[in-house]
Amino acid sequence: MTSAAVPLGELEALSATELLKWALATYGRRFAISTSFQAEGMVLIDMASKLDSAVRVFTLDTGRLPAETYEMIDTVRERYGIAVEIVSPETEEVERMTTLHGVNLFYRDPNLRKLCCHIRKVRPFDRKLNELDAWAVGLRREQSEERASAMQAEQVSNKLKLSPLAEWTAQQVQDYIEQNDVPRHPLYLKGYTSIGCGPCTRAAGAGESERAGRWWWEENSSKECGLHVTPDGRMRKALDVLLEDILKH
Ligand code: SF4
Repeated sequence: MTSAAVPLGELEALSATELLKWALATYGRRFAISTSFQAEGMVLIDMASKLDSAVRVFTLDTGRLPAETYEMIDTVRERYGIAVEIVSPETEEVERMTTLHGVNLFYRDPNLRKLCCHIRKVRPFDRKLNELDAWAVGLRREQSEERASAMQAEQVSNKLKLSPLAEWTAQQVQDYIEQNDVPRHPLYLKGYTSIGCGPCTRAAGAGESERAGRWWWEENSSKECGLHVTPDGRMRKALDVLLEDILKH
C-alpha cells in the first residue's frame, strides 16, 4: 500500500484489535511489533498472536538489558511460539564508542547518553525498519508529556507507525493482562514502572511519573531514547558531532 493510500483518519477510529487486524491483513510479513516486553508490548503480542500466530515480533538487544528482559524473550518464545527477532547494534560502532567514551558514558553527559541510545537503539532500529512497511509499539498518551499527542497511526519516513494502545489507560492495560493471563515482566514486582536498559532504569518512587525511573540522574531532559521523538536542534547538533567520531572510521 502506498503511503498516500493509508487511511490515517479512519485508523484513528479503530480499536486496538481492529488496528492490529488491519495491519496484519494489509502488510503481512512487512508488519511487526517492536517491544521491550513491558506490559503494553505484551498486550500487543497477546492480541496479535490471537489474530495471526505468525505475527513478527522484534526487540532491540542493546547489550545492556537486565537479565529479566532476556527471560521475557524466552517466555514469549515458549508461551506464544514466536521466534522473537533480536536486533543488535553494530559491534564495531559499540567498540569505538566505548573505547572513546567508556562503557558507562551515559552517566557523564546527556549528549553521551543520547549517543549511546543512538548507537545501541536508534541505528539498529532504523536498519530493522528497512525490512518493514509498518510497525506497532506500545505507546500510551498518558505515559508522559512527550507521549501525550501520540496518534494511533502516523507516517514516519514513508513507514506507518501504529500505537494501538495510544488512548488506553494503565488500568485498561492491567485489566487486559489479568483477563488474558498475559506474562508480566519480573521487574514490575520490584517496583519498576518503565523498563529499559539495566544501568539506565530503576524503580520509580512513590508519586513519581511512570517514566521517572528512566535516566533518573538527568534533570529536565526528555525521558526518551530517540526512537519516538526527534531531539531538539541543539541536542542533535551535539549528538551529530559525537556520532561523527564513531562513524567516520
Ligand atoms: S538506555 Fe542507557 S545503556 Fe541503553 S542504549 Fe540508552 S544510554 Fe545506552
